Amino acid sequence: MDFDLTSEQQQIRKLAKDFADREIAPGARERDRAEKFPAEVLKKMAPLGLLGGPVPEQYGGMGVDYVSHALITEEIGRVDSSVRTTLSVQISLVELTLLKFGTEEQKRRYLPRLCKGDLIGCFGLTEPEVGSDATKIRASARRDGDAWVLRGRKTWISNGSVSNLALVFAQTDPAKEHKGIAAFLLERDEQPYGSQPIHGKLGLRSSDSSELILDDVRVPDANRLGPVGDGFKIAMAALDSGRYSVAAGAVGVAQACIDASVTYATQRRSFGKPLAGHQLVQELIADMVVETEAARLLVWRAGDLKNKGRPNTRETSIAKLYASEIAQRAADNAIQIHGGYGFSDEFPVERYWRDARVNRLYEGTTQIQKLIIGRFATGIDAIA
Ligand SMILES: Cc1cc2nc3c(=O)[nH]c(=O)nc-3n(C[C@H](O)[C@H](O)[C@H](O)COP(=O)(O)OP(=O)(O)OC[C@H]3O[C@@H](n4cnc5c(N)ncnc54)[C@H](O)[C@@H]3O)c2cc1C
Repeated sequence: MDFDLTSEQQQIRKLAKDFADREIAPGARERDRAEKFPAEVLKKMAPLGLLGGPVPEQYGGMGVDYVSHALITEEIGRVDSSVRTTLSVQISLVELTLLKFGTEEQKRRYLPRLCKGDLIGCFGLTEPEVGSDATKIRASARRDGDAWVLRGRKTWISNGSVSNLALVFAQTDPAKEHKGIAAFLLERDEQPYGSQPIHGKLGLRSSDSSELILDDVRVPDANRLGPVGDGFKIAMAALDSGRYSVAAGAVGVAQACIDASVTYATQRRSFGKPLAGHQLVQELIADMVVETEAARLLVWRAGDLKNKGRPNTRETSIAKLYASEIAQRAADNAIQIHGGYGFSDEFPVERYWRDARVNRLYEGTTQIQKLIIGRFATGIDAIA
């Protein structure tokens, strides 16, 4: 077991860290205040390869390993969870799903444009009536000659309004339940779908979250991803990939909380000494350090399994559950250390706290992760 990063991994981490500090961090507060999608940031990420990290070079990506992918995601998540979410959807939910399940033609058609940022992808699974129980999606796909007609609504779709490629899941035959679900690729110019942004979010305010409106959208059968009936399986595999990215991003938030807290606690004084000189303040920081390092190692373990092509659903769920919970605690501790100033956006820790909240909800809530982990432990499926 080797916990040292390779020199290539260290270089990738430095590239992402420098970019995050230089190009993402400075505008994060203003974008959050204005609910402004970080389009200009994405444009700058593409030439560095950051929009296609683990995608093989032959399809326009960087071809980095999964630990490197986590390092990039952590560094972006450290400065701005909205950008990190946009990236997680683009890479982990859309590109890697296409890579795994797409035909050669689909991969050549879409992956290079996604990696360049010419296409922004979204992943449409959740519906107004269906979230955790994705077996019950109601959006329908009706066969019509050599095409499908998609009808329904999706909600809470990250990148939805800004996307021009939607990976959408729909039911082809309700009698078959989840074995009737199929996945489709909708290129907005050719298969126009509607969208409606959701405003007033607690956090991730500069990421786009939208409703997707499918009003009889005609999609050629050539745009189906994987066999009819495999849609649910594809969605779950995509979530294994997305959860890994969420976990890495949450580690980034926790690290940002440590960094901000150490800076503040060593500079501000109370009772004649720096805040960090008070044992109870140090305890808050020490807890953050321990939990963040544990979460990072859980992410790297899942990444190692992904590198080896081994099953990792359990390990990814463990990493996602733990990292998202400890990021929230770290953000809470960071606000505590900042005292009253932590309650204002003069300091970034209140944004970290608001942004961290969603990690416990999306890509499978904390409860769903516990049920996955419990199923592995007991052999009993308690989800349904
Ligand atoms: C900012 C944001 C971005 C998102 N981005 C996307 C996206 O890009 N694509 C997409 O498809 N979706 C996206 N989602 C949706 C997200 O994945 C869902 O919100 C999540 O899966 C939970 O579904 P739900 O909101 O319908 O909650 P519900 O499923 O209604 O759950 C409500 C509560 O009940 C609990 N619960 C449900 N079932 C069980 C059970 N069997 N046992 C115990 N507890 C249970 C849940 O844990 C939760 O606490 C996003 C959500 C948000 C907030």
